[in-house]
Amino acid sequence: MTIQTVGVIGAGQMGNGIAHVFAQAGYDVLLTDISAEALDKAMALIERNLDRQVSREKISAADKDAALARIRTTTQLSDLGQSDLVIEAATERETVKQAIFADLVPHLKPDTILTSNTSSISITRLASRTDRPEKFMGFHFMNPVPVMQLVELIRGIATDDATYQTLLEVVERLGKTPATAEDFPAFIVNRILMPMINEAVYTLYEGVGSVQSIDLAMKLGTNHPMGPLELADFIGLDTCLAIMNVLHDGFADTKYRPCPLLTKYVEAGWLGRKTGRGFYDYRGDTPVPTR
Ligand code: NAD
Repeated sequence: MTIQTVGVIGAGQMGNGIAHVFAQAGYDVLLTDISAEALDKAMALIERNLDRQVSREKISAADKDAALARIRTTTQLSDLGQSDLVIEAATERETVKQAIFADLVPHLKPDTILTSNTSSISITRLASRTDRPEKFMGFHFMNPVPVMQLVELIRGIATDDATYQTLLEVVERLGKTPATAEDFPAFIVNRILMPMINEAVYTLYEGVGSVQSIDLAMKLGTNHPMGPLELADFIGLDTCLAIMNVLHDGFADTKYRPCPLLTKYVEAGWLGRKTGRGFYDYRGDTPVPTR
C-alpha cells in the first residue's frame, strides 16, 4: 500500500518530532491534539529544529520551507479520516489511547493503517478494540525523533504481513533503521532501559548517591551519554512511571515495582524537562538537582 498522507495524534515531545521527520521525508502530515496551545508550541518547535538543521547545513532553507508547508494542524480528530497511516502519540495511558481509537475509527478509510507510538502498552489489546486488528501495529520512535536512528516495530497477534511490510518501507523512506520486537510489555528498549532508570531512582531514594553522583557515575562509569536521572527527566517522569506500571502489571513480578520516589515526583507534577522540574530544576540557566 502507498502511504502519502499521515495523521499524527498528540503534539507533545514525540508527536512534534514524528511530524517533523515525516514532513521532511515528503509525506503530507496532519497533526492533531486536544490542546490548541500544544499544536502552536509543536509548530514553533518544529520550525526551530528545522532552522538548526539549516544552520548546520544538513538541509537547505528551501527544504525547511517545503517540510513546514507539508504540516497542517487541527484539533478535530475526524479531520484525520483521509489519512493513509495514523500514528497515535498521545499521553501514555491506555484509557486515553482507547478513547482516541474509538472516536477515530468511524472516520477512517477501510485500508488506513493504524499505529501507536506507545512505549509499553499491549499492541494486541489496543488493536483488539478497533475494527482493524490486522492493520494495527506498534510504531515506536525514540526521543528526540529527528536525531534518533531506531524505530521499534511491534506486530500484534493479528497484524498481517502487508501492514508490516508497508511500515518497513515507511521506515526506510524516513532514513531510519527498524528493529522488530514481539508484543510483550515494554517491547525491547523500555523493557531493558526502564528498570535501569527505576533502579537509579531507588539508589537515590535509599541515599546510596545524590542526583549528581548517580548521573556522574553512570556517565563516566558506563559511557552513557546521559545519566539515568537526566534521561528520566528527558523522557518524562509520568511516562517512566506508566511504563513501570505496565511492566509490573504485565509480568506480575515485584522486580518491576515502581520506586515510591518516582511516584512522588509524578504526584507533585514534577514531570521532568517538559514541566520545568524533575530530578533537576530547569527553570534557571543551568539545571540544578532537586535532591
Ligand atoms: P507528552 O506528554 O509530551 O505529549 C502528549 C500529548 O498528547 C500532549 O500534547 C497532550 O495534549 C496530547 N493528548 C492527550 N490526550 C489527547 C487526546 N485525547 N487527543 C489528542 N491529543 C491528546 O508525551 P510524549 O513524551 O510525547 O509521549 C507520547 C507517547 O509517545 C506516549 O505513548 C509515550 O509512551 C510515547 N513515547 C515517549 C517517548 C519519550 O521519550 N518521551 C519515547 C518514545 C515513545
